Amino acid sequence: MTDPAERDPELLDKVVNLTKRRGFIFPSAEIYGGFRSTYDYGPLGVSMLRNVKDEWWRAMVQERHDIVGLDAAILSPPAVWAASGHLETFTDPLVDCLTCKERWREDKIGGVCPNCGGTTFTEARAFNLMFKTQAGPVEGEGATAYLRPETAQGIFTNFANVLATTRKRPPFGIAQVGKSFRNEITPQNFVFRTREFEQMEMEYFVPPAEAETWYAYWIETRFAWYVDLGIPESMLRRHVHAKEDLSHYSRGTTDVEFLFPWGFDELEGVANRGDYDLTQHATHSGVALDYFDPATNERYTPYVIEPAAGATRAMMAFLLAAYHEDEVGGERRVVLRLDPRLAPYHVAVLPLSKKPELDAVANEVLDRLSPHFMCDYDVTQSIGRRYRRQDEVGTPWCVTVDFDSLEDRAVTVRDRDTTAQVRVAIDGLVEHLAALRPPR
Ligand code: ATP
Repeated sequence: MTDPAERDPELLDKVVNLTKRRGFIFPSAEIYGGFRSTYDYGPLGVSMLRNVKDEWWRAMVQERHDIVGLDAAILSPPAVWAASGHLETFTDPLVDCLTCKERWREDKIGGVCPNCGGTTFTEARAFNLMFKTQAGPVEGEGATAYLRPETAQGIFTNFANVLATTRKRPPFGIAQVGKSFRNEITPQNFVFRTREFEQMEMEYFVPPAEAETWYAYWIETRFAWYVDLGIPESMLRRHVHAKEDLSHYSRGTTDVEFLFPWGFDELEGVANRGDYDLTQHATHSGVALDYFDPATNERYTPYVIEPAAGATRAMMAFLLAAYHEDEVGGERRVVLRLDPRLAPYHVAVLPLSKKPELDAVANEVLDRLSPHFMCDYDVTQSIGRRYRRQDEVGTPWCVTVDFDSLEDRAVTVRDRDTTAQVRVAIDGLVEHLAALRPPR
């Protein structure tokens, strides 16, 4: 049974709890009572989130020769958002419940107030989701700036720069990872929907005639990325948007959805944006944003296929899919069966006792492993308790240094999922563990 809600109706609470208790995710500004569903990523969370983003970058940029990276500014002038259509149309329908006065996004509540069950609402008003601020000390029109609500526009505004400096030709892509901001009406479900979040977006520029082929290709490629990193296929599905639900720029959108505890919901959207963005920015800026193909002597505006994922939302999905409770030696344990590439720590080094001679060997082991793996070092409490603590945060391998290690220069490597233990020579430990990690 893989439906997490069926598996355990308290799954969401348990995961939220674990992430707070073990230092993955804290409510932001907690000592001041918290701040409107913003979150801070603690020592383990920052490590895992970084792994999620690194794996995306590896798959999308490093291991491909048709995609390059970019890191554009978060602050941008109104002209960008006028051209992109965001000033006009990046809105959600806002309604007030006439019974309890709570505010909701009309399209998310199915006509019933989630707070009081009321069914009468005000007329929907279009609420723009962009955060507006000012650049510089003088207020006024010229000083207005927006925090980007998506990373994509920084890619379109740099299209000509990238084309001129990399000599890429369609089909090619530009990838970007970074913070985006949306003044969501109802942020909810932990880090699923927050006002500040991280996105992993790639704009793939193609000859118009190839757009449909690449659209299908990216839906499958992105779906497979989640499966490769450990999400069971049964917890994923594709959701094709109906024509009438498409965003203003889209000629077709398919979401990769994950089975969250409240049901299937969006993990990533793959859209065929046509030539909408480049044409808009070319018209508004007066700068040509097209491609001259020397092979055919033709000039055309490429179409764009965009896989747009959320890093923080993906991390939440990986945590939910990994959470398991089982029994080891008659004892109940919580274990995060995270793919080793995503786990906050790859290895924990555990000296059996605090004796200085064990500590010395354990530190030598730690020094050897640290250049290759993210390591934890834990010397407090019984070894059984320490294993449990590492299981709970998903550490795939525990390396135990015991008194025999002083004689045989070997350690015990324990596997998180099977709890099987093998003896490995310290000299061969890096290679042994590297071979266990999925190929990179
Ligand atoms: P929704 O309709 O749920 O508001 P969207 O379809 O507008 O979201 P996109 O613009 O396609 O979302 O954003 C791409 C990805 O960015 C989403 O699939 C999601 O993973 C992530 N994302 C979007 N908004 C948020 C948010 N408020 N908090 C966390 N992640 C988000």
